Amino acid sequence: MSTPNPFLATDQKMVGDIYTGTEVMDNLTILCDDFGSRFGGTPGEKQAADFLAQKMRNYGLRDVHLEPVAYLGWRRGAATLEIIHPFQKSIPCISLPHSPAATVEAKLINMGDGAPADFDARAADIAGKIVLTSSVVSPNNSTRWIHRNEKYGRSMLAGATAFIFANHYPAYGPATGGIGYKGRAGKIPGISVSKEDGDFLRRMLKRHGELTLRITTTDELFPATSWNVIGDLPGSDHPAEIVMAGSHYDGHDIAQGAEDPASGTVSVLETARVLAKYAHPLPRTVRFAFWGIEEIGLLGSKAYARAHADELSAIRLYLNMDAAGAVQNRGINLNMWDDLQPVFEAMSVEMAEPFNVGQSMMAHSDHYPFFMAGVPTGGIEAIPRSLGGRGYGHTKFDTLDKVSLENLRGTAALAARLLLRIAHDDHWRAQKRSPERVRAALDTPEHREAMAHTARMDELYQ
Ligand SMILES: [Zn+2]
Repeated sequence: MSTPNPFLATDQKMVGDIYTGTEVMDNLTILCDDFGSRFGGTPGEKQAADFLAQKMRNYGLRDVHLEPVAYLGWRRGAATLEIIHPFQKSIPCISLPHSPAATVEAKLINMGDGAPADFDARAADIAGKIVLTSSVVSPNNSTRWIHRNEKYGRSMLAGATAFIFANHYPAYGPATGGIGYKGRAGKIPGISVSKEDGDFLRRMLKRHGELTLRITTTDELFPATSWNVIGDLPGSDHPAEIVMAGSHYDGHDIAQGAEDPASGTVSVLETARVLAKYAHPLPRTVRFAFWGIEEIGLLGSKAYARAHADELSAIRLYLNMDAAGAVQNRGINLNMWDDLQPVFEAMSVEMAEPFNVGQSMMAHSDHYPFFMAGVPTGGIEAIPRSLGGRGYGHTKFDTLDKVSLENLRGTAALAARLLLRIAHDDHWRAQKRSPERVRAALDTPEHREAMAHTARMDELYQ
């Protein structure tokens, strides 16, 4: 059965254009091969911001501008990890962004995959020790993604003196990722090792009963500025009503960040290109956002949500597209907006484009500041969700060759067609939530555990 598609002519032009050109991959190639990681504080970061702004201007977007964001910058220094007792050996490692510079000597404690309950149960053993844990995201079959930074935070709260994050994927080396809290640096050094070296440490701890380590980090913290890049397709009838799509553009300094985030960045840009070319003018404003410094704590999007607080009630939906050009089983994940479930399911039928619609919320991308402010949010993500982990994401192997043109095209076409419809919808069903309703949306067993942890972190960082 087919449902009439009132947007068929525009759909055909946009999708036809996307599928008969390579602009989206050309843009990805420039971001990755010319500008490198685009990590906060690198020259490539600003080059990427200027490039994204220039592309939006070329595509015909209006009011294209950079919004500066002041933040605590971090520059990687050399890091060392040595076993000093009962034998001597050096283990390769890297520091985690927002780790302070420090030298620590202490005994090692193996915290397995870092289940939250274990940190509480073993707090007395952890105090004064160096915690070793892994990048497994669902320890003890958790249905919530237990993030590296939560494991780091729980280590600090239990009195650990340092934190070692071991990859759980073989042959990918160490995985990086930010630590610290709300833009502030961590209070204990955090480093990362390969799966193989993590396994070695666990074997030696088991064989010798005790292992004393020395960790030295030499990273620098400094005042820095990043940029969010914003551009609009102004609405013709209701310009104050806004549909928004975005992705961060910064990757981690050890990689090209091709999948995460750049596959999403260029998919947003391609969406802007075809909407400007074939769907403009739209009745409502469509705003495109490229966020800076997501990788060290969502700092760009948090700054935007603060600076634009008075506009947030005008946002019908913020569609997050972090790494969305690399998603398998591409669908729409709504951040607990039940009223929108039938809306997206109906769009899937009308578009003759099968995709799943899910409902879940995790705190670790740029939808989160919008979600917490009550804005309707969702993202292009794998549905059903995977709790396998990041694969080569956040390792030096997240490179251009991993991303396919086919996947970029599929993501851009889906986003363009959805934004077209949301901008035209005269009976949109979602409105900004009050703070009470945001809290109620998070009042589930899994989120309660996360919120309780956040409250303890707030105290620690007072
Ligand atoms: Zn990302």
